Amino acid sequence: MKETRSTCPYCGVGCGVIIQSEGDRITGVRGDPAHPANFGRLCTKGSTLHLTAAPEVTRQVRLLHPMRRERRGAAPQRVSWDAALDFAAESFHQIVFEHGPDAVGFYISGQLLTEDYYVFNKLAKGLLATNNIDTNSRLCMSSAVAGYKMTLGADAPPTCYDDVDHADCIFIVGSNAAYAHPVLFRRVEEAKARRPQAKIIVCDPRRTDTAELADLYLPILPGTDVMLFHGLLHIMLWEGWTRPDYIAAHTSGFDALKALVRECTPELVAQTCGLAREDLFTAARWFATSPATLSLYCQGLNQSTSGTAKNAALINLHLATAQIGRPGAGPFSLTGQPNAMGGREVGGLANLLSAHRDLADPAHRAEIAAFWGVPSVPELPGKTAVEMFQAAADGEIKALWIACTNPAQSMPDQKTVRRALERAELVVVQEAFATTATCDYADLLLPASTWGEKEGTVTNSERRISRVRAAVTAPGEARHDWAIAVDFARRLEGRRNGPSLFPYETPEAIWLEHRESTRGRDLDITGLDYTGLEQAPQQWPFPQSASTGRARLYEDGVFPTPDGRARFAAVGYRPPAEPRESRYPFALLTGRLRDQWHGMSRTGTLGRLFGHVPEPAVQMHPQDLERLRLAEGDLVHVTSKRGSLVLPVQASSEIGLSQAFIAMHWGAEFLTGLSSTGEPLAGVNAITTSAYCPTSKQPELKHAAVKILKAELP
Ligand code: SF4
Repeated sequence: MKETRSTCPYCGVGCGVIIQSEGDRITGVRGDPAHPANFGRLCTKGSTLHLTAAPEVTRQVRLLHPMRRERRGAAPQRVSWDAALDFAAESFHQIVFEHGPDAVGFYISGQLLTEDYYVFNKLAKGLLATNNIDTNSRLCMSSAVAGYKMTLGADAPPTCYDDVDHADCIFIVGSNAAYAHPVLFRRVEEAKARRPQAKIIVCDPRRTDTAELADLYLPILPGTDVMLFHGLLHIMLWEGWTRPDYIAAHTSGFDALKALVRECTPELVAQTCGLAREDLFTAARWFATSPATLSLYCQGLNQSTSGTAKNAALINLHLATAQIGRPGAGPFSLTGQPNAMGGREVGGLANLLSAHRDLADPAHRAEIAAFWGVPSVPELPGKTAVEMFQAAADGEIKALWIACTNPAQSMPDQKTVRRALERAELVVVQEAFATTATCDYADLLLPASTWGEKEGTVTNSERRISRVRAAVTAPGEARHDWAIAVDFARRLEGRRNGPSLFPYETPEAIWLEHRESTRGRDLDITGLDYTGLEQAPQQWPFPQSASTGRARLYEDGVFPTPDGRARFAAVGYRPPAEPRESRYPFALLTGRLRDQWHGMSRTGTLGRLFGHVPEPAVQMHPQDLERLRLAEGDLVHVTSKRGSLVLPVQASSEIGLSQAFIAMHWGAEFLTGLSSTGEPLAGVNAITTSAYCPTSKQPELKHAAVKILKAELP
């Protein structure tokens, strides 16, 4: 038996795993006791990884050969890699020739490795001269990126997992960490057990399992977080709990924020947020006066039309109370996907460039063009996720290359997304799994390797880079994502003079180029190499002069802004894009289940992971069921302005009045037969809204207005 150290491919905790294998069969997995993200622990998803990679499962769900559809709706036929990539290159070349480079777009994934991400980004922006490359991480953390940059000056979580052990107050807001980041949450539970005097505040419209640990639970009305944070600052100012010395020495812009929050009285905030006035005072006191306060937050803040404002308003509280730059203190955004952070590092989003450079900055564009050896990087901003599919639906984008993600299930407002996939002249889907809904729209299917088969790196929520390693070879003709992109790129650059921009033969060669791009930047990793990372995953920055990564940032009170000061953000409160109203009187919330991951392409292959929640349902408050004369298990139509689903209803006291909850994971394959409109089913995203935050462009997946009516049985 062989043992290979690698990293879990599911969530942003980034747990180290040891893969056990015999020949080309993965036989077991255990937590890596030496990995600082988990010290040997795994959650139910991580500890069953090997079962999702068994050959009998693989044979059923994996794409094993390149396949091409001669026409939409036809069965795909097996083709050779050469034929597939020649066809893709010729089609892209033709579309770019006829319509310009912005007629193509790449939609990639936070589950790709950093090396994959780097190649795709260079391919789009450097070779094809389009910034139309975005990622499903746009749906997961772009508001956190924008919030950090707006206030602290750089996209860098200033905290680390160790801070959980040092915090005297942990403010968990917009995060069901017990389900979404289980190993980290276990650490919070243990810290609380060791130090019962430490305070846990949980703020969430749903009384989740995470809330069960809370000393103070704030059942906030959906979407009102900015008002809450401003109200807490109002109380802190009134009570003298802020830190004027820190504000004067290390920040700017406080007067404008102070004037803004003057209106946010406890009475107004209590009414707007649906919270008790005395709970606001308790939360403000614990946050401000505890020796060290740590905030943990995730999609509840990010997936919102006010996503950036929510992030910035929370960071305001840390700056106003000097709860930053010390052990146990600071804002800590949790990333949903295993490599959402790595994608940010290489600039794999429509508005970013390598090593945290900004596409909007002419100097940054010039630096990267020179680094890549291309004449220029285009100035025109690329289309972000929602914009890209809207542009394809409008006929503006004619070729879509989709890698390692399933937008036909995971994007909001599925009607538009599916119209985009139907209208595009060419849809290339690079995927490990043949079972995703997006595969049905592909003209070309390219089989990719996946966890246990790939080599590279990922970065977790605490800026820690870990190695991902192959224990077995990929099945069939599946190839690594970076290698597919490189092979395609070389075909496109066939007529170009000079050496290839893509000379890589190994993922390490790509990583070394990425490493060089970080020299002198805030995330400088020039002191790292693959060998060292295999021994010990490290946090960035890690410049050449360093002997270890930096656990915490801004301990000296100096921030990466032009004047070295953090910036308070005087952001106004706006309600969700689609408030409840008389025709759509329920607020629909979405979220994760404990044992499932994204669209279930991996976790859905394992029966035991359905033991916790065996089937889809819409959860509602028992009083709402009674008011609508519904009984548990009744089928109901859940209808928004965009579509309708039929689901069994379930009573849950976790859910607030006039709210409803549907888990994000269930796709059409689990809902077959439950359609209410004749439209193809796409799980909850048939009814979510694509309205997005104007700054981060992250869509409001967490809130839509719906009506719920009993379905008549035939
Ligand atoms: Fe994997 Fe996340 Fe579970 Fe760790 S907590 S084992 S990274 S899913």
